[in-house]
Amino acid sequence: MKETLDVVIIGAGTGGLSALREVRKRTQNFVIINDGAWGTVCARVGCMPSKALIEAANAYHRRSTFSEFGIQGANSLTTDIPTVLRRVRQLRDHFVASTVKTTDDLGRRAISGRARLLAPDRVEVNGQQLYARSIIIATGSSPIVPEPWNKLGKRLFTTDTLFEQENLPTRMAVLGMGPIGVEMAQALSRLGVDVIAFGGNQAIGGLTDPQVNAAAIELLGCEFSLNLGEKADLTAINEGLQVRAGDSEVVVDAVLAALGRRPIIDGLGLETLGVSLNEQGMPPINPNTMQVADLPIFMAGDVNGQSAILHEAADEGHIAGFNATRLAAPVCFTRRTPLAIVFADPNIAVVGSQYCALESATTLVGEVTFSNQGRARVGQHNKGILRLYAAADSGRLLGAEMCAPSGEHMAHLLALAIDRSLTVRELLHMPFYHPVLEEGLRTALRMLAAQLPVDSESDLATCGAFDTEALD
Ligand SMILES: Cc1cc2nc3c(=O)[nH]c(=O)nc-3n(C[C@H](O)[C@H](O)[C@H](O)COP(=O)(O)OP(=O)(O)OC[C@H]3O[C@@H](n4cnc5c(N)ncnc54)[C@H](O)[C@@H]3O)c2cc1C
Repeated sequence: MKETLDVVIIGAGTGGLSALREVRKRTQNFVIINDGAWGTVCARVGCMPSKALIEAANAYHRRSTFSEFGIQGANSLTTDIPTVLRRVRQLRDHFVASTVKTTDDLGRRAISGRARLLAPDRVEVNGQQLYARSIIIATGSSPIVPEPWNKLGKRLFTTDTLFEQENLPTRMAVLGMGPIGVEMAQALSRLGVDVIAFGGNQAIGGLTDPQVNAAAIELLGCEFSLNLGEKADLTAINEGLQVRAGDSEVVVDAVLAALGRRPIIDGLGLETLGVSLNEQGMPPINPNTMQVADLPIFMAGDVNGQSAILHEAADEGHIAGFNATRLAAPVCFTRRTPLAIVFADPNIAVVGSQYCALESATTLVGEVTFSNQGRARVGQHNKGILRLYAAADSGRLLGAEMCAPSGEHMAHLLALAIDRSLTVRELLHMPFYHPVLEEGLRTALRMLAAQLPVDSESDLATCGAFDTEALD
């Protein structure tokens, strides 16, 4: 008699492990299958090693502010790149080990192998067929590399290989100015690599507000060569690679391809599900249940192409794991306020509604530039801009885009405000300690408030600015 599992989870990344945590609460009759190394993309080659490299780069870059602080000798500081990269890998190994522990006790319920769907209730792995009441697909994404570039060999890196290097090349091109390209181009440049960056369009780091985008381009362009608006192509020449984009032509030692990531669906057998697939080969997926059409199949994490962000992958795994173990109809979860952060310096962040999604006729904008903000000046972080968007009728905060010092923290504060549907005036009720970078945020809020009707004069939200750097 054929044995039927309650759930088969395909992929043990963040989405798959989050699903596993939910599934284990309700049944022990499951398997989780993973192709390649266990330990998640985030810990192995994604969020964590990239942030470890960025921290080293920013620590070294800080020397450029020393003489103004009155600290001498900055010019004699150097980096030992092999040591920097060793530390990245040591931290990486630590994070991977802690992640792998979560599946250590599964025994035969953790299967290494490449799974393929045979039908909505059947999966094949290592030549064995498994029957399942529900299937969770969490196969993640992989870096986009145009096919002809695969023959460029070791001179072409992706973030899958960058952190494995023992040393860094002298001159590198970074292709793609999305979040990963921006983070890595700045970090490599700050570590002393001569970086030439190329972006296929004018927007960088996921920004859609032209003013914030322009500020980010100006700031990053001061650190490394930034070429935008043309598709780059590569040719191998002698020991290097030639990069051509529009009129630009450079020869570099190596290239980091950061052209985005593609869901891993090739060979997965989605066509066996009997539902229509779109041009990208993707079935219809409900973002609130993670269900594929009306099948007992759920797709969570980068693989569903909805957002390639870790906390979203974890949420989607949670939803998929919850719904895959229910006999009743799937539950619709309310998704969180959108929040995307790029760990550039200054931080780039987009919270709530993107600027490009808002109607200018019904949206108010408030902004602050940090060039003269008191605390930012004191710490030599006085760069960047933050723009807030609010509904003209209700004064409710809708979204924000920024390239701002400590943007990662302000973005969280704003995400909470948007999630709670707070108005500009309600936000101005919050105490702002002095002197903090958040006083810059208050300046942008006050600019919004000035465009809204005043409800009551006897309200601290109307307390105005001094218009002096030392006090605002
Ligand atoms: C350089 C970099 C930096 C990043 N930085 C951040 C950041 O700072 N913040 C943030 O929020 N996000 C960041 N991300 C994105 C984040 O890492 C991903 O969104 C997240 O890891 C996706 O998790 P996942 O579970 O969807 O996929 P993964 O973790 O990729 O897991 C998928 C697993 O499925 C396996 N698999 C694939 N096909 C099969 C198959 N057929 N059978 C069995 N197993 C299969 C894969 O081998 C893999 O182990 C970054 C990503 C990168 C690459």
